[in-house]
Amino acid sequence: MDISKLKAIIRDVPDFPQAGVVFKDITPLLADPLAFSTVIDLIVVHFGRGSVDKVVGIEARGFILASPVAYHFGAGFVPVRKAGKLPWETTSAQYELEYGSETLEIHTDALGPGERVLIVDDVLATGGTARATASLVEGLGAKVIGIACLIELEFLKGSRTDPTSGTRIGRGTRRPSYLSSCAPPPPDTPRTAWRCTGRPPPRRRRTRG
Ligand code: AMP
Repeated sequence: MDISKLKAIIRDVPDFPQAGVVFKDITPLLADPLAFSTVIDLIVVHFGRGSVDKVVGIEARGFILASPVAYHFGAGFVPVRKAGKLPWETTSAQYELEYGSETLEIHTDALGPGERVLIVDDVLATGGTARATASLVEGLGAKVIGIACLIELEFLKGSRTDPTSGTRIGRGTRRPSYLSSCAPPPPDTPRTAWRCTGRPPPRRRRTRG
């Protein structure tokens, strides 16, 4: 299945969960066996078997994508959840939203020093969620080798340097594989006027060794 078909299958839901937001609904993609397996394969091929020890999924849609990726890598799956949802001892990271703040948590024993971690989520918007997750991973001594998001809302520039913290999504890591289902933005709707990349991840070269 090619990228344009994947893009077309993701549904834009205007004004959800609040006015002015266009929600990227990936449920039609998840329900389509070929589309679902294609995006999982794209992520696995992009990062390569043997390069990842643990796959971190971000609540909640990130879990759905991260689990089969972990299975294909032969890697473990680790959940990052909103505050108060994980049952064991946790460490947390707080980050700012447009209105208020959000706290994410990870189990303190979920990752070991030096483990190679791939972070997976459905949408990269401002980048705050991915950035906070990367700080949780690094706080446990593990190494973020990549961040794979299905969709990037490029107009929000989430993968660029954060002006307040100075951190950049993906610095020192491989770029995420981006797919997007965006239609051209309708006129006079700036919040929804996102641009799409829709680039397939580059093919990895085989090396003999
Ligand atoms: P951000 O921290 O701003 O990069 O937001 C990313 C998180 O919020 C991801 O976990 C997404 O699931 C969710 N998210 C943000 N914007 C959207 C959107 N337009 N449609 C669907 N999910 C979104």
